[in-house]
Amino acid sequence: MPWTNYHHHCKYCDGVGELEEHVQEAIRQNIGSLGFTSHSPVPFDTTWSMKEADFDAYLRDLEAVKSKYSDRIEIYKGLEVDFLEKWPRQIKSWTDRGKLDFTVGSVHFVKELEDGKPWEIDGTLELFQKGLREIFEGNVQKAISSYFALTCQMLERDKPTILGHVDKIKMHNSKFPFFDEADRWYRDRLTETLQLAKKSEVIVEVNTRGIYKKRTSEPYPGIIGLKIMRELDIPVCLNSDAHHPSEITKEFEQTVKLLLEIGFRELMVLKQGQWCFVPLKGLVS
Ligand SMILES: [Zn+2]
Ligand SMILES: [Zn+2]
Repeated sequence: MPWTNYHHHCKYCDGVGELEEHVQEAIRQNIGSLGFTSHSPVPFDTTWSMKEADFDAYLRDLEAVKSKYSDRIEIYKGLEVDFLEKWPRQIKSWTDRGKLDFTVGSVHFVKELEDGKPWEIDGTLELFQKGLREIFEGNVQKAISSYFALTCQMLERDKPTILGHVDKIKMHNSKFPFFDEADRWYRDRLTETLQLAKKSEVIVEVNTRGIYKKRTSEPYPGIIGLKIMRELDIPVCLNSDAHHPSEITKEFEQTVKLLLEIGFRELMVLKQGQWCFVPLKGLVS
């Protein structure tokens, strides 16, 4: 059975390569259904978001590869949209404007640093520490609770199709331990967020990027989160969050095996424009 991937960056944001290069490599790596999700434009400067002026060209390029390769792969138009506390309806607005097939909703920014810049939670370790210090007086519990509270606001006010890397705030934790994922308060915040994801009927992605970037040994969400998701019977999709054609299916086999061990049996995939379940077992030998 072919692979699928619904979290995928290219040259229109901080990814590398033309759409066509990505599509050709996806076909080579046995991807049957691929959704592109450049970072949505945001109303302030970043080094990694799409420029608003490029949005129409992105859509046109997507339509072009979609029809050129339609006999070999299904291509879908998506965006990874930021949920921003001050501009809370980004997902709805970009979906309408681009007539998108789906969105990945992610929280990358929490509150603001002393200089007024939004605090990027998955930037460098130094930036992470700076935000903890300046916004939360070094209180990790408050910072993480604030991140999950924003994720919950997104699910309530501006629901995406797919919830992106739900526990990415732990990104620096393996090299510089800020907290213990087994702590009660952390599990409680994560559980509340996943319960709301279930209620909101979003798909929660299992994202392999942290593993192949050697930031974590587990996907986002990690094993603790995945077990909670299994108990809640949350539908999942498998995504690589690739920023280069070579990353399209990285760590997929290992992650499918992990999902099977935890008790997952199905993945959600887009087929002929409809989300449906496929058995996980058929994906690994
Ligand atoms: Zn992201
Ligand atoms: Zn991404």
